[in-house]
Amino acid sequence: MRLCADIGGSFVDMGVIDAHGGIHDRQRHPTPVADWPALVALFRDALDRHAARIDPYAPVCLSLAGVVDPASGTIASSNTPSVHGRRFDDFGAALGRPVSIINDADAFALAEATLGAGRGHRRVFGIILGTGVGGGVIDDGAVVVDAHGIGGEWGHGEVLVDSPIAPGSVPVFACGCGRRGCLDTVGGARGMERLHAFLHQARATSVEITDGWIAGDAACTATIDYYTRLLAGPIAMFLNSFPATIVPIGGGLSNCAPLIGLIDRRVRTGMLTRPSEPVVVCTRLRDRAGLLGAALGSGLCLSLMAEEPTEG
Ligand SMILES: [Zn+2]
Repeated sequence: MRLCADIGGSFVDMGVIDAHGGIHDRQRHPTPVADWPALVALFRDALDRHAARIDPYAPVCLSLAGVVDPASGTIASSNTPSVHGRRFDDFGAALGRPVSIINDADAFALAEATLGAGRGHRRVFGIILGTGVGGGVIDDGAVVVDAHGIGGEWGHGEVLVDSPIAPGSVPVFACGCGRRGCLDTVGGARGMERLHAFLHQARATSVEITDGWIAGDAACTATIDYYTRLLAGPIAMFLNSFPATIVPIGGGLSNCAPLIGLIDRRVRTGMLTRPSEPVVVCTRLRDRAGLLGAALGSGLCLSLMAEEPTEG
């Protein structure tokens, strides 16, 4: 068994994973966002608690919103300053055992490709529609990244540019990456809310917008129409470039199945191959994908014995 954790900007989700993908003693702790000793203490406590059942030579398996530069071993994580700029080795030294680190979107894509909705597909493009957008690309069971550990980051790059004829008519927002008009600024839950405010000068949560759309509200319908068109174009372009055959979607917005269905229909319209079967689908592993992806990222081979392993 291995200790696995998904370090998010708000919570650290951790548990011990067995060879059949069962997650035991799952716990959520507030992320010590800027407190490195507190983060280390969290993991040391968990290692002590599970000392009897964890393989003593196995790495601690981590997934986080960031990347480890393969050349320098330095971690870049914009939403977790406690690990940003630290060296990969710092984790291992602090915990007294090896660690493996995988980007959270790559972990999601790897888990879905291996055990979830992408099972049986050679090429998988996994997408997280959470607070923002994330992505990971899997080819033949391997995460596709460049020499800097970057891959599948389809949310960055300017896709919304202002009109020279009608300035202010296009929702061009500043992105956390330093650019303006990235898909990340409109593609996640916060982006959907930003779009709604831009179109209607009204504040609403992403859940209120999707609920309103399903109930037939005109303003929410206009927002969802615009939102799904903004997402579907780049996904179709990606699939026309890299022929993945399945696109599992995770993150909070994947809880709205009709939304994923609409994105799927629009993506397929934009694909040159015009597939007749769904391509963009909801996650099958749901909230287990992050931890299972962290375990798979460490090289652990998992075979799920059941759809929903018993936790305990
Ligand atoms: Zn960006």
